[in-house]
Amino acid sequence: MNEQPSILILNTGGTIGMVMDAETGALKPFNFDDLQEQLPTLKLFNYKIDHHTFDPLIDSSNMNPEVWSEIVSVIEDKYEDYDGFVILHGSDTMAYTASALSFMLQNLNKPVILTGSQLPLGMIRTDGRENLLTAIEIAAAKEDDTPIVTEVCIYFENELYRGNRTHKFNAQNFEAFRSFNYPPLAVAGVTLEYNLNSIHKPNFKKLKIYKKLDKNVAVLKLFPGIQQTALQHILGIPGLKALILETYGSGNAPTDPWFIGLIQKAIEKGLIILNVTQCQVGKVDMGKYETSIPLKEIGVISGNDITTEAALTKLMHLLGNTNDLTELKKLLSKSIVGEMSV
Ligand code: ASP
Repeated sequence: MNEQPSILILNTGGTIGMVMDAETGALKPFNFDDLQEQLPTLKLFNYKIDHHTFDPLIDSSNMNPEVWSEIVSVIEDKYEDYDGFVILHGSDTMAYTASALSFMLQNLNKPVILTGSQLPLGMIRTDGRENLLTAIEIAAAKEDDTPIVTEVCIYFENELYRGNRTHKFNAQNFEAFRSFNYPPLAVAGVTLEYNLNSIHKPNFKKLKIYKKLDKNVAVLKLFPGIQQTALQHILGIPGLKALILETYGSGNAPTDPWFIGLIQKAIEKGLIILNVTQCQVGKVDMGKYETSIPLKEIGVISGNDITTEAALTKLMHLLGNTNDLTELKKLLSKSIVGEMSV
């Protein structure tokens, strides 16, 4: 490895990589070969900074598991050539991508930092400048020749988060993300303060890549007045293998016999039902209230304090990599890459 830190920026799209067209005033992606021109401060790092631009660049609302596999392939190919990776991504689905990548890139011993912005890099008040510069600094940071952050993270508005713990909670402010159930891994103020106790320790094992994802999953958010037909339809989706039930509070749901009966029948047929709370802070605790006892009794699995984003991508990952239902349920109940506090 050469002395000068080397960073690969993967540009998938989103607001950050845009500038305003001088003639029309419309936002358009800028050519990444001109990144130094957009961000002259980059030169001060004295790093080797290369980029890989995805084609087409996408608004992250169009993100999907196929692009996740492409991102993983680029990192797999270039893993030995760079000290760290920065992924530019629209903020809307960034928490899903960060969660997915954490399951797809295991035994990670280098930083993979996702970032983006609420305002394009080409605008005067952009938040993208600081987000990108600090993400690069974190991706290059080492102590005793070992990277400080060896996991998939999101850096946004002064905080570094474990990727699979994040949620986009604000569509308006620069501070768009939160990690409600896990502390920030670093806070950028006058200095960059790493929370070393919360960051994964490098295990120096060989990178393990998992590209197979099974999309036969669905999410149902409960609401007062939910109709029997709604549940019947979602459980009847052809090929469905797992349903995330977004429940109330600490994992509570209606106790109507039709509701419990439909879920029970689905579980008996081999469907996985994962209980994730609609609350952003705290966890599922089935059995705490009477309204969650039946779920526990019929074999609904507790998602503990997992986010919906991490639950969904964990299920896609597990279903894509094992057919053993017992093993799969065991893995769902424990933390694989720091996504749950168990
Ligand atoms: N809609 C944009 C996206 O997610 C917003 C952003 O870049 O933050 O791609």
